[in-house]
Amino acid sequence: MDYPHVVDQVMSAVRPHIGEGAVADYIPGLAKVDPKQFGFAVATADGQLYTGGDVHVPFAIESISKAFALALVLGRKDADVWKRVRREPSGMAFNDLIELQLENGIPRNPYINAGAIVVADELLADTGDAVAALRDFFRAETGNPALDVDSVIAESELRSGDRNRAISYLMASFGNMRNTVELALDHYFRQCSFSITCAELAKAGLVIARHGLRADGSRLLSEDDARHITGLMTMCGTYDGAGEYAYRVGLPTKSGVGGGLLAVVPGVCSVAAWGPGLDAKGNSVSGGIALETFSRTGGFSVF
Ligand code: GLU
Repeated sequence: MDYPHVVDQVMSAVRPHIGEGAVADYIPGLAKVDPKQFGFAVATADGQLYTGGDVHVPFAIESISKAFALALVLGRKDADVWKRVRREPSGMAFNDLIELQLENGIPRNPYINAGAIVVADELLADTGDAVAALRDFFRAETGNPALDVDSVIAESELRSGDRNRAISYLMASFGNMRNTVELALDHYFRQCSFSITCAELAKAGLVIARHGLRADGSRLLSEDDARHITGLMTMCGTYDGAGEYAYRVGLPTKSGVGGGLLAVVPGVCSVAAWGPGLDAKGNSVSGGIALETFSRTGGFSVF
């Protein structure tokens, strides 16, 4: 595969669209980000890195962290998380409450907020510190010993997080929380606030692309569970735009409202794109164009 050519094609396709979309403004810390930025990185399973644009500018990982938190939970032998969260697309917004009420506090999947709070709660109960578990993981996979939570974003999430509180208290009322709501949310908000670059995100995503193997060759999760993560990314990873992503990109993808996107070509590579401007469904506009171009140019669609 001629990756430099593929990256060139991506950068040309994206250039006229950089700055399009609206930055997430429901979290004040994200509203301040300059939308005229774009980064793109491909990390291959055999250890190469190909990049374009603002690839070393850190941004808030937001919902992309949900795939990694799930990987850490599934990687633990005692993981029983599937009693607490289902594996179906929701068709509703990522922070919906109505479906959660109708379905007795059991979230549809681990990538909507309710499901991700369950996973964070599970990781916290199992490890004693969900954020520390994720921090150790990210630092090891990216080789950046300083990678950490952006405390300004975390504070901003905490202050504007009433929707997530409502979701969590609703789940608690159905007996679906192991920790107190405030403690679980403290970890969830900080998990979403990890500051990461495109280059680092692509490297971290390799764990999923390598079917569960970490950078040091040890196994984080079983091949089956790595497949479960990518299956869920395909069905539920881009909010209620997942059908459109399957159609346009054809790769397991997880997005975040910080404008990041992580896509995986199983066995081959992990791809990160970042552009802060979002479409109406909460997915990065420029990042979507990048992934579509990447998939088409390289013939990477899994379908
Ligand atoms: N921290 C964000 C929230 O809970 C994450 C949302 C996202 O990226 O989808 O609202």
